[in-house]
Amino acid sequence: MKLLFLGSGSAFTTGADNYHSNMLLISDRGDKLLLDCGSDIRFSLHDAGFSHQDITDIYISHLHADHVGGMEYIGISRLFDPSCQKPNLYLSKDIASEVWERSLSGGMRHIGGDIANLDTYFKVDPINYQDAFIWQDIRFQLIRVIHIHNSFSLMPSYGLFFEIAGTKIFLTTDTQLCLAENGEYYEQADLIFHDCETSKYPSPVHVSYAQLTQLPPEIKGKMWLYGYQPGHLPNAQADGFLGFVKRGQVFDFEQVNTQNFTFHQRDRI
Ligand SMILES: [Zn+2]
Repeated sequence: MKLLFLGSGSAFTTGADNYHSNMLLISDRGDKLLLDCGSDIRFSLHDAGFSHQDITDIYISHLHADHVGGMEYIGISRLFDPSCQKPNLYLSKDIASEVWERSLSGGMRHIGGDIANLDTYFKVDPINYQDAFIWQDIRFQLIRVIHIHNSFSLMPSYGLFFEIAGTKIFLTTDTQLCLAENGEYYEQADLIFHDCETSKYPSPVHVSYAQLTQLPPEIKGKMWLYGYQPGHLPNAQADGFLGFVKRGQVFDFEQVNTQNFTFHQRDRI
């Protein structure tokens, strides 16, 4: 099983060297699970040698366009491609009810000869609070993280906690630093892929690099950083992290036996 970062940049990433932080999990047989589907997904998939035809399973963490804005491309392209079936769509129940009305329906509701809805394009699997979905015998537990609090209400994102070949992985998705709520997953994980804002003018809705440097060394030592802005990056390894994930970077999880596992990381596919 391989984890490919199609991109590792922030929402407003520009330039030729990075895309939105969307990933593909690719099984040894070639089955694929897309983890978030941002508005530049058609470009990032193409650069990695894939297209809408490869996207049979999708997980959506929250409703910002760098995570959901590419669903129109995937949904419509697959609907009119006779070689494709509806992709499975996994997402938390609370955003399953919003993704259509608040994000996708504007461009996808009107279809030749009919009125469409989310089920026209996707096989929707709404997931209960703190519950999980199964893909390729892997259990993906949804972890609610605090992304935006507007004083009236919380807009969460849903990170994932899962295990591949003995490696426990915590993928935060977009988040503030919320150790009080989710500290147990930082402890349990062998590998953490963490949102990290590197902007000179940090927003309050993403954890900043400066905040992450204050974490204990044992946590930083299993942490890869992604979701950063274009431009200069600090020396993450010197600060105790594993590093910044680059676009196209592949993490290869290879089972050796039930007790031991190897973990390889390649620079590029
Ligand atoms: Zn977001």
